[in-house]
Amino acid sequence: MFSVSEIDRLSEEFESKSPQEIIRWAVDRFWPQVALSSSFQTQSVPLLHMASLIRRDILIFFLDTGYHFWETHMFREQLASHWQLNVLDLYRDTRWDEFARQHTRSLPLDDPNLCCFIHKVQPMQKALKDMKAWISGIRRDQTSARANARILELQDDGLLKINPLLNWTKEDIQRYAREHRLPAHPLFQRGYRSIGCAPCTVAIRVNDDERAGRWSGHEKMECGLHTEMFRQKDLEPDGTPLDK
Ligand code: SF4
Repeated sequence: MFSVSEIDRLSEEFESKSPQEIIRWAVDRFWPQVALSSSFQTQSVPLLHMASLIRRDILIFFLDTGYHFWETHMFREQLASHWQLNVLDLYRDTRWDEFARQHTRSLPLDDPNLCCFIHKVQPMQKALKDMKAWISGIRRDQTSARANARILELQDDGLLKINPLLNWTKEDIQRYAREHRLPAHPLFQRGYRSIGCAPCTVAIRVNDDERAGRWSGHEKMECGLHTEMFRQKDLEPDGTPLDK
């Protein structure tokens, strides 16, 4: 495994590499313990396309929160079947089921951080426990939190997070999608530029910030997968650690 200084050096070196070169390095170095996460929205498609050309059977995690638009499920099915992607759906821990059922309608609005922790952060933490590397599609131009990210980020538990698109802009994503004639999420043309779960996503105007439609009316800008929340490990509904 790499030392912290080696990761820093490589991360710096990768600033001038293409996303494809970074993905190929990750696959060569960590296969089969490397996985990619995707929310299957329009801007996710270039990364899915690049990764699938490099290694068709790369494992792709999709967080099935139970709150997605039906169009997202349809788009995920279409892409997975067309490109023969190796997608694994992730669900909340069953120990949250009773609590989640009691608060299904109110939870995303009353406590979106807890809702995201239960339905996104914790399932991803569990799925990544057997992995050495995690490829994510975040970009520096998306949010202030992402602006400070590094291409390689070593987590406390030794997992290496790899952000090959970090230097790309919204325009780079659009250019790649045009050049490769990639499909768009069915809601994209209706003003849904960044698409998460249905209760937390609204359509926006053309000149609005790309993520302005996410958690509109809340200060929240991130689900927690790419913030400090991801370091918070396994909690049960009463706040005690889950058994591993
Ligand atoms: S995006 Fe909204 S509905 Fe989805 S997990 Fe987060 S708070 Fe819940």
